[in-house]
Amino acid sequence: MRRALIAGAGIAGLTSALALAKAGIGSIVFERAAAWEEFGAGLQLSPNATRVLRALGALDSIAELATRPRAIHILRGRDDTPLCVLDLTRAQSRWGAPYLVVHRADLQRRLAELCAREPSIEIRLGQELVGYGANAEKVKATFKRGLISLSEDGDLLIGADGLRSKVLEKLGDGQPPAFSGRVAFRATLSTDALGAAMRAPVVTLRLGPNAHLVQYPLREGAYLNLVAVIESGWRGETPSQPWDGEADRPALTRAFAAWSAHARDLIALPQSWRAWPLYTRPPLPCYAAGRVALVGDAAHPMVPFLAQGAAQAIEDAGALAHHLGGQPDVAAALAAYSATRAPRAARVQQEALAQTKIYHMSGPMALARDLTMRLAGPERLLKRYDWLYGA
Ligand SMILES: Cc1cc2nc3c(=O)[nH]c(=O)nc-3n(C[C@H](O)[C@H](O)[C@H](O)COP(=O)(O)OP(=O)(O)OC[C@H]3O[C@@H](n4cnc5c(N)ncnc54)[C@H](O)[C@@H]3O)c2cc1C
Repeated sequence: MRRALIAGAGIAGLTSALALAKAGIGSIVFERAAAWEEFGAGLQLSPNATRVLRALGALDSIAELATRPRAIHILRGRDDTPLCVLDLTRAQSRWGAPYLVVHRADLQRRLAELCAREPSIEIRLGQELVGYGANAEKVKATFKRGLISLSEDGDLLIGADGLRSKVLEKLGDGQPPAFSGRVAFRATLSTDALGAAMRAPVVTLRLGPNAHLVQYPLREGAYLNLVAVIESGWRGETPSQPWDGEADRPALTRAFAAWSAHARDLIALPQSWRAWPLYTRPPLPCYAAGRVALVGDAAHPMVPFLAQGAAQAIEDAGALAHHLGGQPDVAAALAAYSATRAPRAARVQQEALAQTKIYHMSGPMALARDLTMRLAGPERLLKRYDWLYGA
């Protein structure tokens, strides 16, 4: 049996391991973190991702932990005027798969459980990839566990090691990610003391000048997930890590000061926020070199304005297994994987970036946007997502 070495046990690495197992390829997944952490917050999983999960036999099990929102309500942040309601109950019939929201930690844990059921997958926590070499026959990767150095041979190496990918760095491709000028504040809070409306299975998106605010319930309405994205001149030292957003709370409060009372209440609700600087990198032309390939944020970091980072990682996993499963020549399979995935993910990266301007418009531009949205109606807006969700 062929064997992949996978660096990183985030959504990209675990889904890749699962997809490869279904294609008859074993893997060892090396994860730098020593334990699974309650890391991240809510994720929207659009139909292009849930379709891949279903093909892997993972969707039912993941859906048990997820919420199926019935709509996306888009509001004008200033006064909560409804701009549009996108009906998600028809996701299955329109795009062939459901639209879900799930906590990232739940998704990661469930993917890890599904991997654990596959005899051909081994997950090693607390092991960090520090280097690798590859020739025409195999790859040899070096890992660090504390002070101990270990190496492992495989038929291929998958870099699923996120925004600051060591695998990409060693490939010598790509520019370092650059701060996008925006910071996302995330909070997940119990709905115990909140009204029933906070538990309704709906994604609410408020748009306003230089900011937007997203809310949706998680874990059967027991929690409310909030994401507030603001423009920021932040210049920090630890770019890919979230930080305690409390220090920046005044900036957050200021950004929403002229918004509806409901929006301001939501901003005031969480006891603590975590802040995530948002990074971009120009699209890579290629995700593979010989027996080495990239998946997920390592390949295509993107701003979360289309809620597609994890979804694209899941698409990567499906494509990787598809190309490797039917092709004994690993390098040829990875080249075919890259040729399929790089153009599509590049488009998603670029459209997500374009969306930043639309979401954060102010003045007459915002008026025009709101008018267009109201006049266009939901069908025209839904149509704009067909290329993404229906693919
Ligand atoms: C505010 C915000 C909202 C978002 N909302 C959505 C959404 O609604 N829908 C959506 O689809 N996406 C969303 N995303 C994006 C999504 O969270 C990411 O794109 C996705 O989680 C990336 O997964 P990954 O596995 O590629 O990378 P990561 O989650 O970064 O995982 C990489 C893993 O590799 C490990 N690692 C790193 N280096 C090494 C090494 N050298 N050796 C071994 N292990 C290593 C890390 O510890 C980590 O576990 C959002 C992102 C943000 C910031």
